[in-house]
Amino acid sequence: MLSKKERNMKKKKKKSEKKDLKTQYQGLIERIQNNYTEVNLENRTNCYICPTCGITKTKDIDKGVTPMVIMCPKCNKNFAKSTFYIDIDSSIPVTHEWYRPSLDEFLKLDRDMQEHVLKGGLDYRSRSE
Ligand SMILES: [Zn+2]
Repeated sequence: MLSKKERNMKKKKKKSEKKDLKTQYQGLIERIQNNYTEVNLENRTNCYICPTCGITKTKDIDKGVTPMVIMCPKCNKNFAKSTFYIDIDSSIPVTHEWYRPSLDEFLKLDRDMQEHVLKGGLDYRSRSE
C-alpha cells in the first residue's frame, strides 16, 4: 500500500504529465498548420493491398502522416501495403479514414500511439463508426 503522501505525489505527477501532453498536443496542431500547407485533402485517397483480401481504400480527412504498411483491417493477419496515394481501382469505395485524434482522444491513447500522433501521425477508423 502506498502512503497518503506517496499517493498524492503520484497524483501530482500524473497531473503534470497530462499538462505536458496537452502542451505537446497544442504544439503539434501549430506545426501541422504551418508545415502541411501543401497537402491537398482532395486527393488523399489511398489503397492498402493485402495479399489475401485485396484493396482496403482509405481517405485522409486531416493533414498528417500515414504508415506505408498497416495490419489488414479485413483479415487482421497480413500486412497491407500502401500504394502511396494512387487510387488503383476507382470502383472500390472508401471504407476507412485517417484522422487526427482530438485532444481528449489523444490523452486516452497508449504511449506509442501518443508518440505517433505527436510526430504528425494519423489514426484510422472505419467510416461506419
Ligand atoms: Zn487481409
